[in-house]
Amino acid sequence: MVVMTCYDLHCHSTASDGSLSPAALVARALDNEVDVLALTDHDGTEGIVAAQQAVQGSDMTLIAGVEISVTWNGATIHIIGLNVDIENQNLQQGLATLRSYRSTRAVEIAKRLEKSGITGAYDGARKYASEVMLGRVHFAKFLVEQGHAKSINDVFKRYLVRNKPGYVPGDWATLADAVTWITEAGGQAVIAHPARYKLTATKLGRLITDFKNAGGVGMEVVSGRQHPEEIKTLARLANKFELMASCGSDFHTPDNNWIELGRLQPMPEICTPIWQNWTQ
Ligand code: AMP
Ligand code: MN
Ligand code: MN
Ligand code: MN
Repeated sequence: MVVMTCYDLHCHSTASDGSLSPAALVARALDNEVDVLALTDHDGTEGIVAAQQAVQGSDMTLIAGVEISVTWNGATIHIIGLNVDIENQNLQQGLATLRSYRSTRAVEIAKRLEKSGITGAYDGARKYASEVMLGRVHFAKFLVEQGHAKSINDVFKRYLVRNKPGYVPGDWATLADAVTWITEAGGQAVIAHPARYKLTATKLGRLITDFKNAGGVGMEVVSGRQHPEEIKTLARLANKFELMASCGSDFHTPDNNWIELGRLQPMPEICTPIWQNWTQ
């Protein structure tokens, strides 16, 4: 019998906008028989040490990861770093800049919400966030708490996306900077959920070309909750551009019944998996 190794290389903890602590996340991944888990919090690696401690004594491998916010041609793109050295200074400096931008943006989001009659959003969002990272999900939790919307998804649609009252256009890292921080920290740069940006085929091709020119080596082919056709399309795209393929659930919370740690469709056989040269 062939025993398949279960890889989940994209998920979030309370160190960004996930709702489980790193230790609780690791426990859940173990319950779900994940063999190799990458913790990839947005714009920070603060959860990694606790996650590494939590896997001690188990058979699971924890990969130090991060999901970096990038602005490319006016669009927000997420770049995953896998196997990064979290002590790398350039990486940490870059991430610190992004988190400081997050604070500035949060003040701006609160100001805009205030104009539409919603007060106290900054402090309200802060309550839901860790010390290190403030994101739109934390605002969404506050808005649900205050009865402005019935779900997180609903808040995003009504308040936090383009043309809505609390929207602030992103001003994140450049693509080249993000890929360089990851690569110089010994990591592999991977384009997160490429289908979610709703780019035309031409633009996606340009993104991938710029990404490769900067030193990027992989893209996610398999994500949580995805149409099988999309996986096939992404697998072909990865091969066309000679990128390795990654897979990750993008798990944030047990409240989302559609996305679970380690519950992913299989990687198409035509793909070269990003873990092909990993030694663990
Ligand atoms: P931020 O990086 O602070 O702008 O927030 C982006 C995060 O918001 C994503 O990583 C998701 O966790 C979350 N998010 C984005 N769109 C939605 C949505 N429609 N419903 C729920 N969560 C969302
Ligand atoms: Mn998120
Ligand atoms: Mn993302
Ligand atoms: Mn993510």
